[in-house]
Amino acid sequence: MSDCHAASQAERKSVIYVTISPTDSDVFYPTLDLCTSCGHGHKLEENHEYIYKDEVDDDLICHICLQPLIRPLDTPCGHTYCQECLTNFLLESDFCPVCRTPLMLQSCRKPSLLVHKLLDKLTVACPFNEFCMETLPRGEMEDHIKGR
Ligand SMILES: [Zn+2]
Ligand SMILES: [Zn+2]
Ligand SMILES: [Zn+2]
Ligand SMILES: [Zn+2]
Repeated sequence: MSDCHAASQAERKSVIYVTISPTDSDVFYPTLDLCTSCGHGHKLEENHEYIYKDEVDDDLICHICLQPLIRPLDTPCGHTYCQECLTNFLLESDFCPVCRTPLMLQSCRKPSLLVHKLLDKLTVACPFNEFCMETLPRGEMEDHIKGR
C-alpha cells in the first residue's frame, strides 16, 4: 500500500517536471506549444481556454469546471457539461455531478445546434493581448489565430 502511494507521487512529480521548465519560471507557458484553436498553452486532453469579456448565462456554464461549456454534452437527466470534464468525472464516478442520477458517457449526446451557436457567440479577448486588443466571438477565435 505504501509502495503504491510512493509510486504515484513520483509519477506526479515527473509530470510537473516536463510541463514547467524551472529556469524559465517567469515565462508564461515555457514548454507547451500554443493551441491553434484558442491560443493558450494547454494539454491536448484539456479544455480550450478563453478570456471571456461578458457575463455568461448560467445555462451555458459547465458545473464541473464552472467555465462556459467547451464541446458540450447533454446527459439524459438534462444537464450539460464539457466533454472533457464529464469524461474525467466519469472515470471515477458513475453518476451526474449535479443531480446524482446514474450516468454513462455512452448515453450522453451533443446538445442542439442552438447551444453551440450561443457558445460560439460568447465574446472573448484575443489571447495575444500584448499585440492585439481585439475582442471577437468565441467561434471565430480559431480563424483569428490562424490568420495571424
Ligand atoms: Zn485550446
Ligand atoms: Zn467543464
Ligand atoms: Zn443530472
Ligand atoms: Zn488577435
